[in-house]
Amino acid sequence: MRPDGEEHRLGPARVLITRRQPILPDDPLDPLRELLAREKPGVGIARVHQVHGVDIHHAAGPTSEPYPRADAVVTAERALAAVVVTADCVPLLLADREGRCVAAVHAGWRGTHAGIAGRVVAELESRFGVRPEELAARVGPAIGPCCYEVSSELGADIAARWGGDWVHPGPAGRPHLDLPGLVRFQLVQADVEESAVGGGGECTLCERERWYSWRGGDKSGRLVAAVWLPDDASPV
Ligand SMILES: [Zn+2]
Repeated sequence: MRPDGEEHRLGPARVLITRRQPILPDDPLDPLRELLAREKPGVGIARVHQVHGVDIHHAAGPTSEPYPRADAVVTAERALAAVVVTADCVPLLLADREGRCVAAVHAGWRGTHAGIAGRVVAELESRFGVRPEELAARVGPAIGPCCYEVSSELGADIAARWGGDWVHPGPAGRPHLDLPGLVRFQLVQADVEESAVGGGGECTLCERERWYSWRGGDKSGRLVAAVWLPDDASPV
C-alpha cells in the first residue's frame, strides 16, 4: 500500500509531509523514501540530528550518520530533499519562489523561543541572496494552542520575549502556547509576506488519528516533512 502523505507547492518547490501509517514503519523515513522514489527518483536526503537548537546545516550533498547536529537544513541542490522529523513540534518548510533554494526547519519551543524561523530566513538571504519577500513558507501540522499546555515559567518567558499573543490560559487555567502561531509571527517579523505563509491550523494531538503526536502517546511515531526543487525549477 502506498504510504500516505500531504503535498503542497511553494512556488516551484514541492513539499511532502507523511501522515500516520497503518503500520508503524521501522524507520520513520521509510514512507518518505517510498513516496520520493515516485516523485523524484534518485533524490538524496539531507537530514540532521535535531537537538532543539538553532544551528543550520547547509547541505551540499546527502547526509549520513552521524548526522550533523542542527535543527534546520538549507540547500540549493536540486538533487536533494531537505528533511525534518517531528511529532508535535512545528515542521516549517521554506522555498524561494524563484526556485533558488529550500529549507526545512524543526521548531519546537526551544528553537522557536530562540528565534530559529527568523535565523533561517536570514541565512537564506546571506547565503543564497534570497530576500524574505521572495520566500514562500508552509507551517506543517504541530501541537496547537488547543492542546499545548506549558509551565507558567515558560509561558511568562515566551510572553516577555515575543509578546502576549502566543500564550493564553487553557480550560484548566494553565498557560497554553500557540507554537505554530508564534512561528508564523516570526516569519512575518522577518519580512516574509503574510500571504506567502500557509498552514499552521492542524493540531497533531487533536488530529492524532491522521498525524503522530508525541504527547498523544505516539512516542515512536514521527511525521516527516520534506521540501525539494524539481529539476526544471528555473534558477535565476
Ligand atoms: Zn489540539
